[in-house]
Amino acid sequence: MQILDGKKLSMTLKEEIKEEVDFIKEQGHRAPHLSAVLVGNNPASEAYMRNKVKSCNMVGFSSDLIRRDADITQAELLLLVDKLNSDDGVDGFIVQLPLPDHIDDEKVLLAIDPSKDVDGFHPYNFGCMAQGMDCFLPATPYGIMLMLERYEVDTSGKNVVVIGRSNIVGTPLSILLSRKNKVGNATVTLAHSRTQNLKEICQRADILISALGKPFFVTHDMVKEGAVIIDVGINRIDDLSRKSGSRLVGDVDFEKVAPKSSFITPVPGGVGPMTVASLMMNTLKAFRRKFPYEYER
Ligand code: NAD
Repeated sequence: MQILDGKKLSMTLKEEIKEEVDFIKEQGHRAPHLSAVLVGNNPASEAYMRNKVKSCNMVGFSSDLIRRDADITQAELLLLVDKLNSDDGVDGFIVQLPLPDHIDDEKVLLAIDPSKDVDGFHPYNFGCMAQGMDCFLPATPYGIMLMLERYEVDTSGKNVVVIGRSNIVGTPLSILLSRKNKVGNATVTLAHSRTQNLKEICQRADILISALGKPFFVTHDMVKEGAVIIDVGINRIDDLSRKSGSRLVGDVDFEKVAPKSSFITPVPGGVGPMTVASLMMNTLKAFRRKFPYEYER
């Protein structure tokens, strides 16, 4: 069994990005810039944002965190999106989800200029992804694809089962893995809350990806010997042995599943850090599209 170490790999990717950003600056360009909009003060969103800003600093991007109170109106938020769309100093931006209930996420998403949509959530980018055209890939699926590529996990002709069909993780992953790409060419089953015989379906998976958000949902009896396990879930559970009284776990019963697997991602330290690294990759790509330059890695 080998750990797919997202923490370590994301550091490698960020070092590679930093080298390219150093090169950009040596050419006399400004640094790539990522803006992040945070509405309200959801503790999980605050933590994600801190990580993103920290990563921007690490790779040499400039960034700004735009905070707005939870009672911002939808019209005000759409105005802010418009302003970021037309700001030449902003290469890419993200609006952290979830938004307060009185705001329609979809309207905000559709208002983002696809050429600055570094989260890769806009339907334009989703459509390009589905057709194998140049686009910003959604950050979490992109991170998983990079992880499979760098750890040389063979996906071609394999049975992949993805549990969870969200627009930001499960559905795009199922498309990417089935496409005719270096990482891809898999036979993919997309399972969801209405799937019947899920246990039997999972038992046939060479690669099992869980993205549903239920702690310890994937148990050892659902997993084939030698399977690759990718755990996207992030769940907070009570743990009185911790000072905080809680800890983060994935969807997979790691202790019992790991010995049966060939590769497995831990939580934390697996898919999560890869998501942030992918956001950095997308921001660099947005900059490169605007100011094309020759760079050999
Ligand atoms: P979501 O919450 O939007 O949807 C969950 C999906 O799980 C749905 O498609 C539903 O059909 C499916 N599902 C629910 N119960 C099921 C069951 N019993 N059997 C089969 N399928 C079932 O999903 P999301 O936003 O993709 O988030 C999923 C998990 O991934 C959450 O824990 C979230 O925190 C985590 N997440 C992690 C990252 C990361 O960077 N690591 C990024 C995004 C989401």
